[in-house]
Amino acid sequence: MNIAKDRVVQLHYTLKDESGREIESSRGGSPMAYLHGHSNIIPGLEEALEGKAAGDQVSVTVPPEKGYGMPRPGLTQRVPVKHLQGAKTWRPGMVAVVQTEQGPRQVQVVKVGRFMADVDFNHPMAGKTLSFDVEIVSVREADPEEVAHGHVHGDGGHQH
Ligand code: ZN
Repeated sequence: MNIAKDRVVQLHYTLKDESGREIESSRGGSPMAYLHGHSNIIPGLEEALEGKAAGDQVSVTVPPEKGYGMPRPGLTQRVPVKHLQGAKTWRPGMVAVVQTEQGPRQVQVVKVGRFMADVDFNHPMAGKTLSFDVEIVSVREADPEEVAHGHVHGDGGHQH
Protein backbone atom coordinates (compact mmCIF):
# COMPACT_ATOMS: atom_id res chain seq x y z
CA MET A 1 0.00 0.00 0.00
CA ASN A 2 1.35 3.41 -0.96
CA ILE A 3 1.26 6.57 1.08
CA ALA A 4 -1.74 8.72 0.15
CA LYS A 5 -4.30 10.98 1.79
CA ASP A 6 -6.19 9.42 4.73
CA ARG A 7 -3.63 6.66 5.25
CA VAL A 8 -1.73 6.11 8.49
CA VAL A 9 2.04 5.91 8.15
CA GLN A 10 4.44 4.53 10.73
CA LEU A 11 8.05 5.52 10.22
CA HIS A 12 11.44 5.83 11.82
CA TYR A 13 13.31 9.04 11.22
CA THR A 14 16.54 10.77 12.02
CA LEU A 15 16.56 14.55 11.78
CA LYS A 16 19.78 16.48 11.22
CA ASP A 17 20.54 20.16 10.77
CA GLU A 18 22.58 21.70 7.93
CA SER A 19 25.87 20.84 9.60
CA GLY A 20 24.89 17.17 9.87
CA ARG A 21 24.35 17.35 13.63
CA GLU A 22 21.58 15.03 14.80
CA ILE A 23 18.64 16.94 16.31
CA GLU A 24 16.33 14.04 17.06
CA SER A 25 15.65 10.44 16.11
CA SER A 26 12.93 7.84 16.64
CA ARG A 27 15.36 4.94 16.18
CA GLY A 28 15.80 2.89 19.31
CA GLY A 29 12.20 3.67 20.32
CA SER A 30 8.75 3.24 18.82
CA PRO A 31 8.15 4.47 15.28
CA MET A 32 6.30 7.75 14.84
CA ALA A 33 2.81 7.57 13.34
CA TYR A 34 1.01 10.30 11.40
CA LEU A 35 -2.08 10.71 9.24
CA HIS A 36 -1.06 11.61 5.69
CA GLY A 37 -2.70 14.62 4.04
CA HIS A 38 -3.71 16.35 7.28
CA SER A 39 -0.67 18.57 7.93
CA ASN A 40 0.38 16.41 10.89
CA ILE A 41 3.98 16.82 9.74
CA ILE A 42 5.84 19.65 7.96
CA PRO A 43 4.88 20.14 4.26
CA GLY A 44 8.33 19.33 2.82
CA LEU A 45 8.42 15.94 4.50
CA GLU A 46 4.80 15.10 3.69
CA GLU A 47 5.42 15.85 -0.03
CA ALA A 48 8.53 13.66 -0.10
CA LEU A 49 6.67 10.69 1.39
CA GLU A 50 3.67 10.80 -0.99
CA GLY A 51 3.46 7.53 -2.95
CA LYS A 52 6.14 5.68 -0.95
CA ALA A 53 5.55 2.24 0.60
CA ALA A 54 6.59 0.16 3.61
CA GLY A 55 10.30 -0.67 3.47
CA ASP A 56 11.21 2.41 1.42
CA GLN A 57 14.05 4.64 2.62
CA VAL A 58 13.65 8.33 1.92
CA SER A 59 16.23 11.06 2.41
CA VAL A 60 14.98 14.60 2.01
CA THR A 61 16.33 18.07 2.73
CA VAL A 62 13.61 20.54 3.66
CA PRO A 63 14.17 24.31 3.39
CA PRO A 64 12.60 26.56 6.08
CA GLU A 65 9.75 27.59 3.72
CA LYS A 66 8.58 23.96 3.66
CA GLY A 67 9.57 23.34 7.26
CA TYR A 68 8.88 25.53 10.27
CA GLY A 69 9.05 28.85 8.40
CA MET A 70 11.37 31.77 9.06
CA PRO A 71 11.70 33.17 12.56
CA ARG A 72 9.64 36.33 13.04
CA PRO A 73 10.93 39.25 15.09
CA GLY A 74 9.05 40.49 18.13
CA LEU A 75 8.14 37.09 19.55
CA THR A 76 10.36 37.38 22.62
CA GLN A 77 8.55 37.56 25.95
CA ARG A 78 9.62 37.81 29.59
CA VAL A 79 8.20 35.00 31.72
CA PRO A 80 8.83 33.74 35.26
CA VAL A 81 11.62 31.15 35.31
CA LYS A 82 9.37 28.85 37.35
CA HIS A 83 6.99 28.63 34.35
CA LEU A 84 9.69 26.99 32.19
CA GLN A 85 9.24 23.22 32.01
CA GLY A 86 11.77 20.57 30.99
CA ALA A 87 14.92 21.24 33.04
CA LYS A 88 16.01 22.40 36.50
CA THR A 89 18.52 25.02 35.41
CA TRP A 90 18.38 27.08 32.24
CA ARG A 91 20.95 28.50 29.86
CA PRO A 92 20.47 30.58 26.70
CA GLY A 93 19.79 28.35 23.68
CA MET A 94 17.95 25.67 25.63
CA VAL A 95 14.43 24.71 24.57
CA ALA A 96 11.72 24.89 27.25
CA VAL A 97 8.00 24.13 27.28
CA VAL A 98 5.63 26.90 28.37
CA GLN A 99 1.90 26.49 28.92
CA THR A 100 -0.13 29.02 26.93
CA GLU A 101 -3.85 29.57 26.30
CA GLN A 102 -3.35 27.60 23.06
CA GLY A 103 -1.70 24.71 24.91
CA PRO A 104 1.94 23.77 25.48
CA ARG A 105 4.49 25.57 23.28
CA GLN A 106 8.19 24.99 22.71
CA VAL A 107 10.21 28.14 23.25
CA GLN A 108 13.90 28.95 23.09
CA VAL A 109 15.53 30.53 26.13
CA VAL A 110 17.25 33.79 25.11
CA LYS A 111 18.33 35.21 28.46
CA VAL A 112 17.84 33.94 31.97
CA GLY A 113 17.94 35.83 35.26
CA ARG A 114 17.23 34.69 38.79
CA PHE A 115 13.44 34.97 38.59
CA MET A 116 12.63 36.00 35.03
CA ALA A 117 13.66 34.66 31.62
CA ASP A 118 13.38 36.06 28.10
CA VAL A 119 12.05 33.37 25.78
CA ASP A 120 11.52 33.33 22.01
CA PHE A 121 8.15 31.93 20.89
CA ASN A 122 9.41 31.19 17.38
CA HIS A 123 9.55 27.44 16.76
CA PRO A 124 13.04 26.24 17.76
CA MET A 125 13.50 24.87 14.21
CA ALA A 126 12.26 28.02 12.44
CA GLY A 127 14.76 29.24 9.84
CA LYS A 128 16.56 25.90 9.73
CA THR A 129 17.15 23.65 6.75
CA LEU A 130 16.34 20.15 7.95
CA SER A 131 17.58 16.79 6.64
CA PHE A 132 15.45 13.73 7.27
CA ASP A 133 16.45 10.09 6.85
CA VAL A 134 13.19 8.18 6.91
CA GLU A 135 12.40 4.47 6.85
CA ILE A 136 8.76 3.63 6.27
CA VAL A 137 7.61 0.87 8.63
CA SER A 138 3.96 0.44 7.65
CA VAL A 139 1.10 2.05 5.74
CA ARG A 140 -2.59 1.35 6.42
CA GLU A 141 -5.99 2.89 5.74
CA ALA A 142 -7.11 5.24 8.51
CA ASP A 143 -10.31 4.58 10.47
CA PRO A 144 -13.14 7.02 9.69
CA GLU A 145 -12.76 8.30 13.25
CA GLU A 146 -9.08 9.06 12.69
CA VAL A 147 -9.90 10.97 9.49
CA ALA A 148 -12.61 12.92 11.34
CA HIS A 149 -10.19 13.81 14.14
CA GLY A 150 -7.33 14.54 11.74
CA HIS A 151 -4.82 12.39 13.67
CA VAL A 152 -3.78 8.82 14.36
CA HIS A 153 -5.17 6.74 17.23
CA GLY A 154 -3.35 3.86 18.94
CA ASP A 155 0.32 2.98 18.49
CA GLY A 156 2.42 6.08 18.03
CA GLY A 157 -0.64 8.32 17.89
CA HIS A 158 -3.17 9.98 20.18
CA GLN A 159 -4.25 7.96 23.21
CA HIS A 160 -7.75 9.18 24.05
ZN1 ZN B 1 -8.68 11.54 18.07
